Amino acid sequence: MTINLPLQAPSASGLIWQVIRNESSRSEAERDAILADPGFGNHFTDHMIDLCWSEKGGWHRPRVQPYGPLELDPAAAVFHYAQEIFEGMKAYRHADGSIWTFRPYENAARMQRSARRMALPELPSEIFLESLKQLIAVDAAWVPSAPETSLYLRPFMFAKEAFLGVRPAKKVGYYVIASPAAAYFPGGVQPVSIWLSTNYARAGKGGTGAAKTGGNYASSLLPQAEASAKGCQQVLFLDNDGYIEELGGMNIVFVHRDGTLVTPESDSILEGITRDSVLQLAADRGHAVERRRVTMTEWREGAASGDIVGAFACGTAAVVVPIGRLLADDFEIVHSGAASSELALSLREELTGIQYGRVEDRHGWLTRLDA
Ligand SMILES: *Cc1c(COP(=O)(O)O)cnc(C)c1O
Repeated sequence: MTINLPLQAPSASGLIWQVIRNESSRSEAERDAILADPGFGNHFTDHMIDLCWSEKGGWHRPRVQPYGPLELDPAAAVFHYAQEIFEGMKAYRHADGSIWTFRPYENAARMQRSARRMALPELPSEIFLESLKQLIAVDAAWVPSAPETSLYLRPFMFAKEAFLGVRPAKKVGYYVIASPAAAYFPGGVQPVSIWLSTNYARAGKGGTGAAKTGGNYASSLLPQAEASAKGCQQVLFLDNDGYIEELGGMNIVFVHRDGTLVTPESDSILEGITRDSVLQLAADRGHAVERRRVTMTEWREGAASGDIVGAFACGTAAVVVPIGRLLADDFEIVHSGAASSELALSLREELTGIQYGRVEDRHGWLTRLDA
């Protein structure tokens, strides 16, 4: 390890980022071999971001450092009380080689909302954005260029104070790691089957459902395994009153016969940036968009009457995926019609077109990371 001196000048946020180069960075050949077949979440770039927060010192010691294990006290609060949040976004390489990300200030703002709910410190948006740019400055070569590939960015924050009492931690770490990602559907987008979870909920009223926090995922793993056992790829959760919430890590949108798009509104779902963007694109095309409560009965009856012609799921990783079938204990809904999956796929195409710089970014959603 070498510490690059002199330190860089203070950045816009006032932080002075220290860059510690990874002396054992992968060779170009090793990197190319990984980028040729990255999968999802298997490989990580050579560096990571590591920023500290303490009650006394605020945000401090911002570093770009070699990717590697963290040393944590076994009493670190996160291990015991799950005080943790994260974000998920992508860096896209455009045809001219430049590197961009999509609506990062939305991710920054959501991370602040998650932080408030989980009693963690709010990371200023400027520092959030700088952390992404700092990582890309050293690991730009890890952003793949094949169609529909990306570098998945994973900012996260957790309580690292060594203390077993129950209260918000006074020492917190913020990190960003990055993982090259293959095209999600290499053979073309396939509709998914989803399983309706009735034995388990992902979140409750007043709980942490609207925060992007690991615990929501932990509680979804068992129902997700149940879904897999039923031959479904994803699980759909309801709230305690029977209203539709979302999938384990994706939001849901219903397509009505007249072109209206309806998505559940609830205090306990995670508000996806993909969903918001897709609904904006649909509204631009003249579709009516409704954000309101949706019951399982409405979906069942709507599918039976032909009023609801389809549904799709959306999130950063898979972008937009038509839902071909919902399987429940005692019923099934099948959406085999072309009309609904065509709309989902054309919205997907427009959104990825903007992300990869093929379609005009008329909403100003892109932010350049490598300049
Ligand atoms: C991250 C996430 C989503 C999708 O959000 P995007 O901003 O579109 O990636 C949806 N549901 C849950 C539970 C999530 O954690």
